[in-house]
Amino acid sequence: MTSRVLLDHGSGGKASQRLIADLFLKYFGNPVLDQLDDAACISMPGEVAVSTDTFTVDPLFFPGGDIGSLAIHGTVNDVAMLGAKPRYLTVACILEEGLSLECLEQIVLSMSRSAEKAGVKIVTGDTKVVPKGAVDKIFINTTGLGIIGKRPFPQGHRAKEGDAVLINGPVGDHGLTVLTCREGLSFETPVKSDSAPLNGLLFQLIEDIPDIHVLRDPTRGGLATTLNEIADQSQKSCLINEDALAISPEVREGCSLLGLDPLYLANEGKFVSILPEEWAHKALEIMRNHEFGRQAKLIGRIGVDNPGRVTLKTAIGGYRILNMLEGEQLPRIC
Ligand code: MG
Repeated sequence: MTSRVLLDHGSGGKASQRLIADLFLKYFGNPVLDQLDDAACISMPGEVAVSTDTFTVDPLFFPGGDIGSLAIHGTVNDVAMLGAKPRYLTVACILEEGLSLECLEQIVLSMSRSAEKAGVKIVTGDTKVVPKGAVDKIFINTTGLGIIGKRPFPQGHRAKEGDAVLINGPVGDHGLTVLTCREGLSFETPVKSDSAPLNGLLFQLIEDIPDIHVLRDPTRGGLATTLNEIADQSQKSCLINEDALAISPEVREGCSLLGLDPLYLANEGKFVSILPEEWAHKALEIMRNHEFGRQAKLIGRIGVDNPGRVTLKTAIGGYRILNMLEGEQLPRIC
């Protein structure tokens, strides 16, 4: 058998069937997927949260993850931000002719492990192969379905005056890791992506905190962009304390060398939660007891003075407005 992806693998004929059986079913197989009909049959109670995302990260493998784990975590996390329990995923891969099958197998294995850890099943999928140069190695789309629990569920417009703004750990790790890896840079202390499935921790929070107003993952555009989106949707203001923000020494060092702002760098294992002040302490306790929230912090407050504005109170006591960026600081980060 050839060790590379051929156009035949996307033909729908025997070569496609072999690829599906020997690779995708081997790692993703479950009673729903194994039916191999044109569509999967699933049943879900009540209201359903749906999210879709396409992953084009370059390079495919980086410290802390790869395009496969990212494609699972990214979509699982987006579904969970509505306070939903992610259950099912669809996976569509666009492969470049010539991609090594060994590389593809590593990615599929990583997706299978990540899906298992996140407690989601892959129920349907698709594979296409395009001629060399039409895509860069592999692009992956995942769509996630989750069951919404409580109502009202967290949404950007629900931030209220006096609410506490929390985050489950330091920012900037994923963005800086992918960039340094792509450019072949290395620092004294290596950086590592924070990519992680957040649904387990979020489920505990949703269970124990009566009304979380907003949950959102600061992915592309980083924490500053996410807070701007929330300030805009809710027409409230947001004041963040630089002193309270956790940024790892290696991210700080890398950012100062490269002239990047960690507040605008992508994260893949972080979430912002905005909730009534009186529940902040309990929420921090839940987060700090979980592997993905050890360094959780209260970083700011929601106000009403300047609707739509996000301000950073700097460590030396000044104030800086955190605007939304015009474009992407770094392309192909997820
Ligand atoms: Mg998101």
